[in-house]
Amino acid sequence: MPSFVMDPPAVVTAPVKGSSKLFPVRRVYCIGRNYAAHAIEMGHDPNREPPFFFQKNPDNIDFSGAFPYPPQTKDVHHEIELVVALSKGGTNIPIDKALDHVWGYAVGLDMTRRDLQGIAKEMGRPWEIGKAFEKSAPMGPLVPAAEIGHPASGKVELKVNGKVKQTGDLNQMIWKVPEMISYLSDYFELAAGDIIMTGTPAGVAAVVAGDTMEATVEGVGSLTVKVV
Ligand code: MN
Repeated sequence: MPSFVMDPPAVVTAPVKGSSKLFPVRRVYCIGRNYAAHAIEMGHDPNREPPFFFQKNPDNIDFSGAFPYPPQTKDVHHEIELVVALSKGGTNIPIDKALDHVWGYAVGLDMTRRDLQGIAKEMGRPWEIGKAFEKSAPMGPLVPAAEIGHPASGKVELKVNGKVKQTGDLNQMIWKVPEMISYLSDYFELAAGDIIMTGTPAGVAAVVAGDTMEATVEGVGSLTVKVV
């Protein structure tokens, strides 16, 4: 038994729908601007330029259904995303083998301090301050691919207080799930437990305390998160 100088942090785990078993989370990769209409609304060219990624921290993921309004911001946005969870990893994974590495899927929110992200973009600084803060990745339970397959199309919708704010379809992704896995594996060594947030459709907007967000990805599930 190793002996630690202090208590080690707990392994971050994701619940699995219909099971008492937990999925252990290793890394969290997020793709930017992966739906053309969202790229346009953020002031970018939606052409198929190479994908780019940033990361959140595993312990930014939260399954409580409550999103505490974060500090140091006045403009927190919702971004509904399909979440991919890997059962195995590797490097240089070919596109046609990529889905063999997927354990399951979930509905997630890439909550963003848009004002801080905007300053970071303007100054050419990293995005963590806007993206990788406490509880910035509310998520629903994972659903095994063995049960639902690999959803490549299906409605993606986010409502705030019952009003539709974001809407799109998984088939509108600029970079598809197998392409994202393959591309990431050329730059990083992927591994079991890695999570990929696959980008958001258009309609991102600010929330305030008291709002209720309802996120649905057809074929995967839905997630209700209250801003507190
Ligand atoms: Mn995002």
